[in-house]
Amino acid sequence: MEYEPIIGLEVHAQLLTRSKIFCSCATAFGEKPNTLTCPVCTGQPGSLPVMNRKAAEFAIKLGLATSCRIAPYSLFARKNYFYPDLPKGYQISMYEYPLAEDGFIEIVSQGEKKRVKIIRIHMEEDAGKLKHGETPETESFSYVDFNRTGVPLVEIVSGPDIRSPQEAGDYLRKLRSILQYLEISSGNMEEGNFRCDANVSVRPKSQKEFGTRTELKNMNSFRHVEKALEYEIKRQIAILEDGEEVIQETRLWDVNQGVTVSMRGKEEAHDYRYFPDPDLVPLKVEEKWIEEIRESLPELPDDKKERFVEAYGIPEYDAEILTSTKAMANYYEECVRLFPEPKTVSNWMMGDLLRELKRDEREIDQCPVTPKHLTEMLLMVKKGTISGKIAKDVFEEMYRTGEGPGKIVKDKGWTQIVDEAEIEKAIEITMQANPKQVEDYRKGKEKLFGFFVGEVMKQTKGKANPNLVNELLKKKLKG
Ligand SMILES: [Zn+2]
Repeated sequence: MEYEPIIGLEVHAQLLTRSKIFCSCATAFGEKPNTLTCPVCTGQPGSLPVMNRKAAEFAIKLGLATSCRIAPYSLFARKNYFYPDLPKGYQISMYEYPLAEDGFIEIVSQGEKKRVKIIRIHMEEDAGKLKHGETPETESFSYVDFNRTGVPLVEIVSGPDIRSPQEAGDYLRKLRSILQYLEISSGNMEEGNFRCDANVSVRPKSQKEFGTRTELKNMNSFRHVEKALEYEIKRQIAILEDGEEVIQETRLWDVNQGVTVSMRGKEEAHDYRYFPDPDLVPLKVEEKWIEEIRESLPELPDDKKERFVEAYGIPEYDAEILTSTKAMANYYEECVRLFPEPKTVSNWMMGDLLRELKRDEREIDQCPVTPKHLTEMLLMVKKGTISGKIAKDVFEEMYRTGEGPGKIVKDKGWTQIVDEAEIEKAIEITMQANPKQVEDYRKGKEKLFGFFVGEVMKQTKGKANPNLVNELLKKKLKG
């Protein structure tokens, strides 16, 4: 039987406001523990929270960018549970009345366009952070740092529209890209300011109803999300094929073992006893404010992609990748400004540049090759100073050392040979070394021409101008 996975994702993204969501404490990362706290975010009796307007503005931006309807009236509730990193004993979060609903994100997955529904976007505060014995002296202790308590988050809940781990990855990358374009979140999963939980179930392809789902937690990179989903889908299919039933539960991804393990069952699920927070007034968003925010939206990935296709005449596939992050799009546009051959630039970026970055798991803003250097190199190829083949080596060297192409070509002596006498000499050496092949060629075995080109290029260490080699070889071989 063929099975189909049904996946929905819940993403928590930290908003880049300077102060926390309900007090004026700074949101800075990496400060000394418990130095960014006050009576409000540590939940002292008698303290009162006040909503951060900027946080609401950021969340509305995201709602608009994902085509959601912004609620004129939303409400914060208390989500009650005990945990040492939660000083109030409850988390303030929107529950029944979220800020934004009913939008979508368009993704391109394996060449196909697809819309993933956004059910809701709501705001909430982050909890603190537990630190378990990080030094030998504190090995047997756990500490709590409240600096993160009250940092604003948005939770983005997708519809159950995702059909493969790969699609889940595409959705997450697109969502992160939108957050980064809007400059409202850094979207860094490894640093924990972009977190993802997944709901996953499988069903026979012919079946309409969803199967029993499990919730996956503890995945802290895109790769882990994809791997955890792959594992969990296989696990659920194996259970169904054995004629058993999938149990509804929360499971943790174990990075080291590469498996998901049961964390808690349905019976142990928390009852959070939500109720409206009596200390906060409802968040009222007037139409005028929404329009102001809409006006301020920057060019988003989909619009930029469309513009790249039109303005630069590059294929949609190239444009999709080049606009996947704002930094990448900026890099591309800077290159095209310096060297106005959009397709050539795109080819180099999509080929050599992205391959190197991917291998080193680097982002484009960490790329050692600057747009200036890349385009200087392209100009050298265009002028014939270096061959396209040598350019590959120059690029690698630029990537490795961060040096400019001029210096590299000069130091390595990689300038293309355009001196006819020098090329003729190489041809003569080649012909003398291969008399049999010369004879065969002259008898009509023209296929051998490629062999001679290769040998001459070897003689000149790949530096001979290929057009000249072709031209002069033809003459010489004729005899
Ligand atoms: Zn505070």
